[in-house]
Amino acid sequence: TSKSQAVLKSKKITVDFSGFKAINELDFEVNRNTVHFVIGPNGAGKTTLLDVICGNARVSTGKITFNDKHDLTKMSENEIVDQGISRKFQAPSVFHHLTVYENLEIAMKQKKNLFSIIKANNNQEDERKLEDMLELIGLTEEKDNLAGSLAHGQKQWLEIAMVLMQEPDLVLLDEPIAGMSKSERKKTGELITKVAKERAVLIVEHDMDFVKDYADVVTVMHEGQLLFEGSMEDVQKDSRVREVYLGR
Ligand code: ADP
Repeated sequence: TSKSQAVLKSKKITVDFSGFKAINELDFEVNRNTVHFVIGPNGAGKTTLLDVICGNARVSTGKITFNDKHDLTKMSENEIVDQGISRKFQAPSVFHHLTVYENLEIAMKQKKNLFSIIKANNNQEDERKLEDMLELIGLTEEKDNLAGSLAHGQKQWLEIAMVLMQEPDLVLLDEPIAGMSKSERKKTGELITKVAKERAVLIVEHDMDFVKDYADVVTVMHEGQLLFEGSMEDVQKDSRVREVYLGR
C-alpha cells in the first residue's frame, strides 16, 4: 500500500503552560499495528502528549499529522475522533444502569448517523459487530447484565470496547491496568495485543512488568523530550534511562 508505516507524526511540538514547557520540541511517531508505550518519571509530559493528540490540550508550536495528511493541532476533539483517534481515560465511565450490550450499542450508534440512531433495530451486520466485540473482550456471557454489576477489570474492557466501536486507527489508553488483579492484567495485555493487529495502540503506563510483557515499542520521555526509544530490552540497557528513571 502507499500508506506509510507511521499513523501519527509530531514535528517539533511544544506545549507551553505560561512559560513552562510540558512538551519541548518533541518529534514523535506511532506506527500502525504496534503496541507503543510511553513511560517516564512524573512530570515528564506523558499525559500532556496524549492530551495534545486527542485535542484536549493545544500546542504552541509544531504540527501533528495523522494518516499522512491531517494536521490535528487545528482540530476540535470531535473532529479528531472522526479522523480516527479515540481515547479511553483512566476513570471508568460506562453507563451503570444499562446492560453491557446496551453500552456497546450506544458506542456504535455514536459512530453512525442520525438516521440509523432513529431506526429502531440493528441490522445483521451491526448485530455481528456487537457480538464479535463481546467475544473479543470476553463478556459474551455478561451481555445482559448491568454494566454496574461488572468487576473492575470487566468494566475497563467494556470501556475499551466502546472506544473500539468508534473504529479508530489509533487508540489512546491511560494506565489501562490500574487497580487490576494479576489475571485481569494478563487479559488486558492479551486484549491490547489483539487490538494492535488492526490498529495502533499508544499507552501511558507506569507498570514496567506490564510494559516488558506487551510492548512492541517504548518511548521514554523526560522533561518534555524524548530521552530514548526502542524495545523494552534496549530501554533497560540504556544508561541515561537508568539514570533518570529505572535506576531510582
Ligand atoms: P506526566 O503525565 O508525565 O506525569 P504531565 O504531562 O501530566 O506529566 O505533566 C507535565 C508537566 O506539565 C508537569 O510538570 C505538570 O505539572 C505540568 N502541567 C500539566 N498540565 C498543566 C496545566 N494545565 N497547567 C500548567 N502546568 C501543567
